[in-house]
Parts: sequence; structure tokens; C-alpha cells
Amino acid sequence: MRSDFLYELNKHLPELFELQQLIDRADNQIKSRVLTQVKCDSHTLPVYQLTLGSEDPTAPALVLLGGVHGVERIGTQVLLAFLRSLLERLRWDQGLNAQLQQMTLIFVPLVNPGGMWMRRRCNPNGIDLMRNAPIESAERVLFLAGGHRLSRHLPWYRGKANQPMESEINAVYQLVKTQLLQRPFCLSLDCHSGFGLTDRVWFPYARTRQPIADLAVAYRLSRLFNKAHRHNTNYLFEPQSSSYTTHGDVWDLLYDESRQTHPKHTFLPLTLEMGSWLWVKKNPRQLLRFVDLFNPTVPHRQNRVLRRHYALIDFLMAATRSYAEWLPQTAKQQRKDFNAGLKNWYSHSRKGNK
Ligand SMILES: [Zn+2]
Repeated sequence: MRSDFLYELNKHLPELFELQQLIDRADNQIKSRVLTQVKCDSHTLPVYQLTLGSEDPTAPALVLLGGVHGVERIGTQVLLAFLRSLLERLRWDQGLNAQLQQMTLIFVPLVNPGGMWMRRRCNPNGIDLMRNAPIESAERVLFLAGGHRLSRHLPWYRGKANQPMESEINAVYQLVKTQLLQRPFCLSLDCHSGFGLTDRVWFPYARTRQPIADLAVAYRLSRLFNKAHRHNTNYLFEPQSSSYTTHGDVWDLLYDESRQTHPKHTFLPLTLEMGSWLWVKKNPRQLLRFVDLFNPTVPHRQNRVLRRHYALIDFLMAATRSYAEWLPQTAKQQRKDFNAGLKNWYSHSRKGNK
């Protein structure tokens, strides 16, 4: 790679620079492949998939994604910090090595490298990748922010109707379709930042306030976390529609397709929405720069955020590896947990599930 490009990459997109260094240094600990390439200015930027652990195509899997929105750099940074730590531990941690023999761990830490290079939410074509999937909300969505087809010069632009998905989000879609849905159990965590004061863990749907068929799984998983991490009250688990509804969410599309094609399997896509308004509240100068609204800018706060989500990701790895131990098995258990989820998230008197 040309050294002047590396200089520019380190300046504009240090996250990709670091990711490539991690891949180079990881030797045979990681399998990496380029899912797609994105043109940006005069450069071509790769979207990487990294795979660790079991190569059995039916092993349970956890997929960690970040950087779908180019201004939300912290999601990519959290995943890079986690990956770096994992690679260090794999050198000596027999427990971790044994865990990864029984599950597959996939990273797509930077889905939208062009947007991040350009410091924009959308991709280089001006399209919001989390509004781009061919799926419509039947409910009233937020004006503009729910996704629109008015103009690529406005944020949250979905792209034109009846067009293929953009290559970055299509790569994510294909990855899930071809590598994940054939597995009996799979979780994904897509890391974002920017909404509200609380860190939220969302499950589908984004397009409707109707519950998903797997509400019992979402309920059981949130209970499991809260019981195991009694002192960690950071997270609010909820359906995304509790916060707002949108068009074009690829996780809605993939969830529905997983139900149609593999109804006996469990695929639960999660979104971590880090509440960045808290960082802005603590440092109001961030209001002066748009990009800073989505990322902690003070180093000690950034370090805290990088540390803070380690427990959640580590928990999701354990829950994936041991899914058979906690997934509701009988119809009676499923009904009970589904109804508990309904009461918790869909009744008017709900208090949320902290
Ligand atoms: Zn986002």
C-alpha cells in the first residue's frame, strides 16, 4: 500500500488503519475477507469481515457490527478495543480458546468506511444505510428521521424506490443470509450512538409497534443479563419501536426473512444505541461540532465508554455459546416469557426493563 495513502488513512480514518494493523498482526487467529469495496474521493476502501472461532457452519454465532453511520465512530472504536483485548487473551486464555471452539464470532467493525472518512452519517452516495432496506413501516414514522425519499441532500435519505440496496448494507444482508441463518442460534449486535441519555439495547421491530415472534427470547436474554450483572444498570432493553419507528431497517428485513426461511432457528438482531446526549451534557462544547454529538471527545470519557461495553459483549458471547442452557424450550415456557415480555414492553403501564 502506498505510504501517502497510509498517511491519509491514518489522518482521516484511523479506525480502518488500526483494523488493518490488527489483521496483519493476528496471523492465523483471524480469518479476514473483504465483503465489498467502496469508492470515496479518489480512494477505494474495504469493508472487512473478520471471523474467529469454530468453522462449523452450524455452530452458534455472534456477529458484532459498527460504523453503519459514519459520524458514530465510537461504535467502531468499542469493537476494535474488544477485538484487541480478545486477541491478546487468546494467546494464553485456555477458557476463551475452549469457548471459541464451540461458537463462531464475526466482526464487521466498519460497515460504512466512506461515510466515516467523509465524517457523514450517510454513505458516499448520500444514503442512510439503516433506512435503505426494502421494508416499509405501516405506521407513522418521524418526519425525515424515520427515512424519506425527498433528497439525498437531507439526512436519513432512503435512496430511490425499487433500487438494489447499497453495497455496504447489501454486504451485511448477504453475510447474514449466507453464513448465519442456517445456524440454530445466532445473535447480532450493531453498535450505534446518538439517541438519548441512556444506553439502549434494541431488538426488532423498528417498523412497527407489534411484538416479534421471538419476544420470549428477548425477554429471557434481558433477564439473564440483569441477573448476572445486578450492579450494571447501564442498559435499557426494549423494542426499537419503544423509542421511534423507521422505514428501511435491514434488521427488520433479516428478522422477517429468518422467520420465513428458518422458523425453527433463533436469530435475534440487537442494536446497541449508546446514549451520546450524556456526553454532550457533561461537555456542552461538543454542541459546537456536529461530529462530536455522536462521540465522547474527552479522553477519560472515551476510555470509560470503551471499557463500559466489554461486559455486555462478553455476556453476549457466553449467551451464544450456551444458548441451549437458557433458551425457553417448552411451549409453556415460551408462552410465559412471551406474555412477560408483552407486559413489560407493550402494555401502557410499562416501566421498561432496566
Ligand atoms: Zn446510528
